Amino acid sequence: KVPYRIFLETVEQAPIAISITDKKANILYVNEEFVKVTGYQPADILGQNESVLSDKITPRHVYHDLWHTISRKQIWQGRLINRHKQGARYLSDLTIAPMLDEQGIISHYIGMHRDITATY
Ligand code: FAD
Repeated sequence: KVPYRIFLETVEQAPIAISITDKKANILYVNEEFVKVTGYQPADILGQNESVLSDKITPRHVYHDLWHTISRKQIWQGRLINRHKQGARYLSDLTIAPMLDEQGIISHYIGMHRDITATY
């Protein structure tokens, strides 16, 4: 059996930027890769909304589709433009999955993203 701390370390050290949010996308947790990709330390970003990452040039319909999908307990996968803490834009390949409680109600969201700017 895998010890619990190994589960924690797996998330912490996973080579993809992971964040856990509440139902309104307020950030509760970020892993090490998230810090590398975004430039934000946990102390900078915990409690803030994921929208701080938005470059604001991503078309509104992308966010609308994102929320429409995840609030129906489905997984959303797509690309949007994010902004690094230092200001540089990057293309993010993002997957958001709802986390359900024992009653099957959304309790949190998990976000996983990569900077894929270099592939374009
Ligand atoms: P918002 O005020 O957030 O609104 C945009 C539209 O989204 C609204 O018109 C509405 O249709 C819808 N909406 C917003 N909040 C809710 C809600 N609680 N319930 C239902 N519908 C809602 N955005 C990024 O730009 N980059 C990211 O990397 C990113 N990662 C995310 C990761 C997770 C886990 C989650 C849950 C969201 C993520 N978002 C990300 C989306 C982010 O929370 C914002 O919705 C988005 O950045 C637009 O922000 P805004 O302030 O411009 O607009």
